[in-house]
Amino acid sequence: SSTTLNADEDNINVVVRVRPISEKERSCGERTLLEFPGKGQVVCHNTTPSQKAKVFSYNVVFEPEATQEDILEYSGVKRLLEMAVEGFSCTAFCYGQTGSGKTHTLTGPPGLVESGASPFAPGHGLVVRSFVHLFRLISERPESHFILKASFLEIYNEKVIDLLNPGSARKPLQVRWSKESRGFYVENLFTVDCETLDDLFAVLEEGMRNRAVGAHAMNAHSSRSHTLLCVRVRRDLREDAGVVCSTHGKINFVDLAGSEMTKRTHSTGKTLEEANNINRSLMVLGYCIAQLSDGKKRGHIPYRDSKLTKLLADSLAGNGVTLMIACIAPTRSNLSETINTLRYAARAKKI
Ligand code: ADP
Ligand code: MG
Repeated sequence: SSTTLNADEDNINVVVRVRPISEKERSCGERTLLEFPGKGQVVCHNTTPSQKAKVFSYNVVFEPEATQEDILEYSGVKRLLEMAVEGFSCTAFCYGQTGSGKTHTLTGPPGLVESGASPFAPGHGLVVRSFVHLFRLISERPESHFILKASFLEIYNEKVIDLLNPGSARKPLQVRWSKESRGFYVENLFTVDCETLDDLFAVLEEGMRNRAVGAHAMNAHSSRSHTLLCVRVRRDLREDAGVVCSTHGKINFVDLAGSEMTKRTHSTGKTLEEANNINRSLMVLGYCIAQLSDGKKRGHIPYRDSKLTKLLADSLAGNGVTLMIACIAPTRSNLSETINTLRYAARAKKI
């Protein structure tokens, strides 16, 4: 069962989600190598008796039985949503090898969102559940006026593609630095004003559909790209004497490329370039987070080294909260990738 998040004020939280064994794995006679001895712990048993089991600790560990609703309730994402409403920049991202459950965790089973199902249909992932919660938070603040704007992009091979404007696949968008807002932004990115839950849901649906089409056209599997859905939350609060005070928060939901791409060193040509680019952004992201979570050495943080980290810089830096959801498979055939993910996640935050 899931344990509640440490009620600490850390700006980086790391949780692990273990997916269930699939039917196919079960029919191959695969068994789980993982054990969950207590709060926030995973024990990973090795395949040979001579090797010692490894123990890892995180804020929360979600066992295979955890539901989509458990992730909303206990991952700490609700705190991110509250902070976005209060004017902070926040990011929730899923990291892990292809097939470990990243997309399931964020958006649910394949095709559910694109099928036009209601936002209240069962099975939806963290993004849709967060949208519902966000509107709940807004309705609890009738004294404020809110303006929500959503965008949805994909980073493939260090190229930014607008998932709400499929034409951008031919002409990738540029990431620029804004002097006025002192932050990175994507030039000409399509943003949608969202007044209702259905508006937000429609953005997700449209982007997921375009992603599937685009991936097919480019002959690229979705496991090689990162997607970033961003909801900007502007809050106008009328104070005494009619003065309006505004805050500008946001929340990013990021479905990262498969982490196995980080060590495809035998590939050649195009795939090598892809692997290097994916490698780079995942390594830079891990490095930035490790630097930030180690409070003592806030030295140079290399946000500029990848498109992804540029776009997440404000939420990784002081003014925001980041939630990492490390996704893992429980079986032996995935052992080495599982260990890599558990290590990456452990480096992101020392518990
Ligand atoms: P990734 O996005 O990391 O490549 P997916 O989310 O596509 O992985 O998951 C791989 C497969 O496992 C999919 O068929 C998905 O529906 C299934 N799956 C993943 N996590 C769960 C879960 N928690 N419960 C049930 N099925 C899951
Ligand atoms: Mg996926």
